[in-house]
Amino acid sequence: MESYIGLGSNLGDPETQLTSALAALNGIPDTDLVRCSSFYRSKPLGPGDQPDFINAVVLLDSGLTANALLARLQSIENRQGRVRGGIQWGPRTLDLDMLLYGAEVIDEPGLIVPHPEMRHRNFVLIPLLELAPDIEIPGLGRADKFLADTGRAGITKL
Ligand code: ATP
Ligand code: CA
Ligand code: CA
Repeated sequence: MESYIGLGSNLGDPETQLTSALAALNGIPDTDLVRCSSFYRSKPLGPGDQPDFINAVVLLDSGLTANALLARLQSIENRQGRVRGGIQWGPRTLDLDMLLYGAEVIDEPGLIVPHPEMRHRNFVLIPLLELAPDIEIPGLGRADKFLADTGRAGITKL
């Protein structure tokens, strides 16, 4: 299945965190990293007194189920020093969000796909559209029309 993953980091040398994450994602069993967007710098979404984020989106081609793939993403976050239980949207070494899993709509306690916030976040939409200009968010329509609502403020390509 083709799955788009959003990457974010604002601690511990964010560009290095993302580069390490790319290698780790490509190392997931039965999974290939097909393409990666440019890296972007964005203003933090949560508490403002934290460093800017570096964000990117990758396309994976995986034979894993969505739940198995999410478990792999979480173990990569943990291996790269992610500490859970902090403040919501607080600083983190690595965040890996499953944005899309094929055209599937999943609504389970630990996994909601499409990612419910992706349409409101230009730091997700811009790198996603870089990889897939015509991509649709299942149930919602073309992703580019949501970027028209969010605008492009607060994000720059590295
Ligand atoms: P946001 O989800 O608003 O971007 P966040 O990334 O800071 O916030 P986390 O603390 O990383 O949130 O994740 C909280 C929980 O979200 C995880 O334990 C995970 O089970 C759940 N979750 C639900 N849907 C998804 C998804 N599509 N991708 C990643 N995690 C998800
Ligand atoms: Ca997130
Ligand atoms: Ca997350």
